[in-house]
Amino acid sequence: MIISIASGKGGTGKTTVATNLARSMGSNVQLLDCDVEEPNAHLFINPSFEETEPFFMPVPEVNESKCTYCGKCADICQFKAIAVVNEHVLVFEELCHSCGGCWEVCPEDAITQKGRELGVIQRGQSNGIEFIHGKLRVGEAMSPPLIKKVRSFENPDKLTFIDAPPGTSCPVIASMKDTDFVLLVTEPTPFGLHDLKLAVGAVQILNIPLGLVINRSDLGDDKVRKYARQKSLPILMEIPFDRQIAEAYSRGEMLVDVIPQWKDRFLGLYDQIKRLSKH
Ligand code: SF4
Ligand code: SF4
Repeated sequence: MIISIASGKGGTGKTTVATNLARSMGSNVQLLDCDVEEPNAHLFINPSFEETEPFFMPVPEVNESKCTYCGKCADICQFKAIAVVNEHVLVFEELCHSCGGCWEVCPEDAITQKGRELGVIQRGQSNGIEFIHGKLRVGEAMSPPLIKKVRSFENPDKLTFIDAPPGTSCPVIASMKDTDFVLLVTEPTPFGLHDLKLAVGAVQILNIPLGLVINRSDLGDDKVRKYARQKSLPILMEIPFDRQIAEAYSRGEMLVDVIPQWKDRFLGLYDQIKRLSKH
């Protein structure tokens, strides 16, 4: 089973939920941190990294000695990443999505592929958890290929948790797609509710069962709960604002290690997810 932990808004406690859920499950668990722009789950899981490898995405390289400047490559590119101008072919690598359209249509075989480094993948272990994350190069905007690479390590024989990036754009979709359940972590504030509505819309388009966790649940107002009732969205857990939890977080400690009663609550959360998931 693959469970994605996401949130419309950053800073809601998504990583706290993802890491504590994974830790509560014991062994035979994977945690994939797909928040590749700012991965931080490793700060809590503390894995010993055994492998670090660069990740390259294929982009076109044009051999102009073979090119007839027919323009077919530019015509098929949906991302304006390749253009033919005055008998020159220009490639804008940062816009390329590696769809392969240009090298497939080129009638002269003038396009080959070269690698563009997007970031690195690191793999490690921590107390029965197989941990994998990607780190996007600073200034790089093309995160979905790196997220897909992190997800390529999903093991169907293990229980897999995905720490998704915040928001509702392509990187989040890449992290939630084809999972069995999405847990949306939110907070009871107007911003939290606004971004939660966007996130719920995205998950429903993907047709994946979902549930909510309300963090800092005793602050703010009641509008998130009302919205959940109106939309029949199950609230699976509430985490109150607690100084002990905040202090543990700031020290990089796991909630289930500092306050062991939380382990049973996270196990209960997992039981509810199992019941509601499409697995
Ligand atoms: S499709 Fe091939 S031959 Fe035509 S312009 Fe592009 S690179 Fe040149
Ligand atoms: S691989 Fe796809 S996105 Fe990249 S330049 Fe070619 S057609 Fe455009």
